[in-house]
Amino acid sequence: MPDNAILQALPSAERSRLLDRGREVALGQYELLQAAGAPVSRVLFVRSGAVSLFSEPSEGRSIETGVVGREGIVGGVSVLEGALNGSARSQFAGTAWSVDAAAFRDALRTSPMLAKLTQRHLHFLLLQAQQNAVCHAWHTVEERFCRRLLQSCDALNSEVVNLTQGFTAQILGVQRTTVSMVANALERDGGIRTLRGKITLVDRAKIESAACTCYTAFKRQLKSALELAA
Ligand SMILES: [Zn+2]
Repeated sequence: MPDNAILQALPSAERSRLLDRGREVALGQYELLQAAGAPVSRVLFVRSGAVSLFSEPSEGRSIETGVVGREGIVGGVSVLEGALNGSARSQFAGTAWSVDAAAFRDALRTSPMLAKLTQRHLHFLLLQAQQNAVCHAWHTVEERFCRRLLQSCDALNSEVVNLTQGFTAQILGVQRTTVSMVANALERDGGIRTLRGKITLVDRAKIESAACTCYTAFKRQLKSALELAA
């Protein structure tokens, strides 16, 4: 089973202490893992799958600010006690190691490596939020759709992803009908095939050329985050 890069990078004694104080949990697809504004009660070390982090400026509206995979943790912001947070929702089914927020804060005090890796991960999330701000402001919905689809395919290491138009609309911060129009146009053009909530990458080269340059930037940031945790 793929493991969490931060857990893997910890010295064995520090890792054992953290493992002793947590438990493995299954992440259901689209499961709400953290509600916006609610206190962070647990920290999830993602072992497989991918978790979308959302900013929710108003009721029923959301936009993705970052993605956490096996390189990172969900809820790390709890180290900043009292900090407000957005929501986190599992994009695909996966697993994570769940540690109570108080136990995580204790572990941070006694594990310099965990503190360092958590700090690096928070920096990685900040970079993602900055890149997303650029992407949302400057790139078209089609470019963003293609960029995000490629990221999902990479996260699953598959050319077929189970991704509904509703969830994609939440990620991109647009109406579902807009996602539908973009997907239909890409399908007519032979780039993708959609069927019952599944999207198949038919022509990766075509989708890569239609995606914005953020795809390369996100890929580079993720590679660097995984290398730093190694
Ligand atoms: Zn972009």
